[in-house]
Amino acid sequence: MFDVAVIGQGPAGGMAALRLAEAGHSVVAFDRKKRVGDPIHCGEGLGKIALEHTNYPVGDWAIREVKGNRIRMPNGKAVGLMSPGYSIHRWGLDSKISDDAVAAGTERHEGIKISKVTKENGHWGLFAKDGEVAKARQLVIAEGRIPNIVKQVGLKGNDKLRLLPGLQYKFKTCDVDFPDNDYFDFYIDPMYADGYVWVFPRDGIFNVGIVATNGAKSGLEYFCREQMNVDPEKRILNDLGDKQNGGLIPRDGPIPQFSTKDAYVVGDSAGLTNPITKGGVHVGMLSGEYAAIAIGNELGSGKLVPPSHAINHHELRGQYWENCGEALHPDLESHVWYDRILKRQPWTKQKFVDQSKLIYSLDKRVLNLIGEIYNGRNYSDLPWLKMFAVLIKNPDLAPLAGKLLKIKASLKITETYGW
Ligand SMILES: Cc1cc2nc3c(=O)[nH]c(=O)nc-3n(C[C@H](O)[C@H](O)[C@H](O)COP(=O)(O)OP(=O)(O)OC[C@H]3O[C@@H](n4cnc5c(N)ncnc54)[C@H](O)[C@@H]3O)c2cc1C
Repeated sequence: MFDVAVIGQGPAGGMAALRLAEAGHSVVAFDRKKRVGDPIHCGEGLGKIALEHTNYPVGDWAIREVKGNRIRMPNGKAVGLMSPGYSIHRWGLDSKISDDAVAAGTERHEGIKISKVTKENGHWGLFAKDGEVAKARQLVIAEGRIPNIVKQVGLKGNDKLRLLPGLQYKFKTCDVDFPDNDYFDFYIDPMYADGYVWVFPRDGIFNVGIVATNGAKSGLEYFCREQMNVDPEKRILNDLGDKQNGGLIPRDGPIPQFSTKDAYVVGDSAGLTNPITKGGVHVGMLSGEYAAIAIGNELGSGKLVPPSHAINHHELRGQYWENCGEALHPDLESHVWYDRILKRQPWTKQKFVDQSKLIYSLDKRVLNLIGEIYNGRNYSDLPWLKMFAVLIKNPDLAPLAGKLLKIKASLKITETYGW
C-alpha cells in the first residue's frame, strides 16, 4: 500500500510526486506515455516567475531567455506584457521534474495507462488493462486535458467539446524571413478564432504555433507563408523526431471543484490554463505543489500552510495570504483547504476567465486601434490621452474604454501567471 498514487507525469503530477516523495511519503506514479514528456504538447514557453513560485531550479532544459511577451495586433502594433521567461525543451522539463521525483523515492511506471480507480475500505485501487497495479491512501489526478479518472472520483471534468486545438511547427531561423529577437510574439487576429499565432525564438530555431477553433493547420500555414515567407514544408523535425506537435487545451477555466476526500485534481485535469496565453505549465506545477501540502497534512507530515516561497512573493503576500482567517484555517479538512486555496488564486476566478475572453471577441478594427493606442508600450502603461483622442475620433467605440480596462486587468494576472 502506497501513501500516494499519482496518475500522470506532466509538470503537475511530476511536481506533486516530487514534493510528496521529498517529504518522505511512499509515492507511486504512472504515465501512459512510454517516456515521460514524449511526445510534446507545448509551445515551449515558460515564465521565470513559474520557477520562483514553485522554488524549482532552472535547468539545461531552458535554452534561451526572453525579455517578455508582445501581443501583436493585425496592423503589427504591439502591446507589451513584459514578464521575462525562457524558451524551453518541454520534454526536458517534464522528464527532469519526474526524474527528480524518482530520485527522491517515487516508484515510477511509464507506459501504463490507468483505466479505472475504485475506493474500498478507505483506500484507492488503481487498475490498468491487466488488472490492479497499485493501492494507495491518497490520489493525485494529473491526467491532463481529457478527463477520465476525474469523473470516476465523482468530480466534474473539462468538457471535451470545449478544448482548444493547438499545432506547432519548427523552422530554422535562416530559412524564414523574420526578425530574431528576445521576445515571445503573439499575433491576435479574428482570423485565428478564439486564439492566436505565436512565434517563440530558440537556439537558431523558431517555434511557430497556433491555437484556434476555426482550423489550426490552415491558419498556421497561412501565417508561415504570408508573415514568415516560408513554405510550411520547410519545417524541421523536433528533438524527438516529430514533424509537428500539438494537442488540446482546456479553454473554459477551472472545473467547479478541485478535490474530494483523498483525491486531488491538478493541472489541465482541473482546467488550470491561463485563458489568454493558454499556458498551463506554471499553474500546473503550482497546483501540484498545493496538492502535496494538503496530502502531507492528511498523512501527518506537514501543516496546511502555503510554502514560504509563495508567502514571500509580494504579489501573493499582499493579496491572498494575509487575513485569510477562517477561509483557510489550518484545522480544515485537507481536501477542503486544497479546493479553497486554489479558488483564492486570481487565475481561477470566473471574473478573470470572463475578462480574458474579451480580447478574443474584438474585431480587427478595434484590435488595430488598441495597437495604435499602445504602440509598443507595456499593457500597464495605458496612455490615457491617446486613448481619449482615439475615442473622440471614433465615437462609436465608446464601449471600448470599459473593455480595454477589463482586458488590462486580465493582462495583469496573466503577467504573473500566464506561463
Ligand atoms: C499546442 C500546445 C501549446 C502549449 N503551449 C504552452 C506553453 O508554451 N507554455 C505553457 O505553460 N503551456 C502550454 N500549453 C499548455 C500545457 O502544455 C499544459 O497546460 C500542461 O501540459 C499541463 O500539465 P499537466 O501536468 O496538467 O498535464 P499534461 O502535461 O498533459 O500531463 C498529463 C500526463 O498524464 C498522462 N496520462 C493521461 N491519462 C493517463 C492515464 N489514464 N494513466 C496514466 N497516465 C495518464 C499523459 O500521458 C501525460 O503525460 C500548451 C498546450 C498545447 C496543447
